[in-house]
Amino acid sequence: MAVPKRKMSRSNTRARRSQWKTTVPTLVPCPNPACGELKLPHTACPNCGQYAGRQVVEA
Ligand SMILES: [Zn+2]
Repeated sequence: MAVPKRKMSRSNTRARRSQWKTTVPTLVPCPNPACGELKLPHTACPNCGQYAGRQVVEA
């Protein structure tokens, strides 16, 4: 029977596909006082379309 020639590194063991897990995304409240919707950090708000206090995309 085929046997592994070398010890698998801890890093490779950890990176095995069976170890892939999903994580809950971090959400932050929208800083726009009129909105307050939860959004992903460092992204324009999908609800009001503002980023860093200015309108960047249409709501
Ligand atoms: Zn918003």
